[in-house]
Amino acid sequence: MSIADNLARVKTALPDDITLVAVSKTKPQSDILEAYNAGQRIFGENKVQEMVSKWEQLPRDIEWHMIGHLQRNKVKYMAPFVALVHGVDSERLLLEIDKQAQKHDRIISCLLQVHIAQEQTKFGLDTNELMALAQKVKAGSFPNTKIKGLMGMATFTTNESQVSTEFRSLKQHFEKLKEIFSAMDTLSMGMSGDYKLAIDEGSTMVRIGSSIFGARNYPV
Ligand SMILES: *Cc1c(COP(=O)(O)O)cnc(C)c1O
Repeated sequence: MSIADNLARVKTALPDDITLVAVSKTKPQSDILEAYNAGQRIFGENKVQEMVSKWEQLPRDIEWHMIGHLQRNKVKYMAPFVALVHGVDSERLLLEIDKQAQKHDRIISCLLQVHIAQEQTKFGLDTNELMALAQKVKAGSFPNTKIKGLMGMATFTTNESQVSTEFRSLKQHFEKLKEIFSAMDTLSMGMSGDYKLAIDEGSTMVRIGSSIFGARNYPV
């Protein structure tokens, strides 16, 4: 199966109002161009340097999403162009994004990452941290960013009811925060292995890599 075939197959499985982020981390530019030529415009990367070099060399109408865990000292490199930062998991990180956005005279769109999985290794805010940060956003502390919604990753398990329960809890946080931020419209949840469950639980944006580009050669 070609990348274009895979892309078409994934799109067929997605309702029209779900945004597809094609996760191209570790994949060469030729793979991205193949998806681009098949109509895909939104790509997700998890390493800043890799995203910057792809941005420099690939068509300018690509929307680049940073989906990975971010170090604050890397934010400046992507600030000129990043379209959406999915993994905002601390106030310090959001402050740095805000500062770099101002330097580049931009408003940078962000998602707050919530810890919903049982695995300790996964990143994200817990409920208290989420609510505390939301209050600061509400108070206007980060004028050069726009919080568009939430992002989360479910536990890596074959237990579908557990995965669904975790996605449902993220959706509940999303509904609660929408009472504070009426402009929130993005719930980023679902990857190759669990996007159908995520959509059933109310996802608006899925991040799909291996089902489009094939397995990655090394874990990231
Ligand atoms: C790699 C990655 C994905 C895509 O994973 P696949 O299983 O290849 O679809 C989605 N979200 C994040 C945060 C990732 O790091």
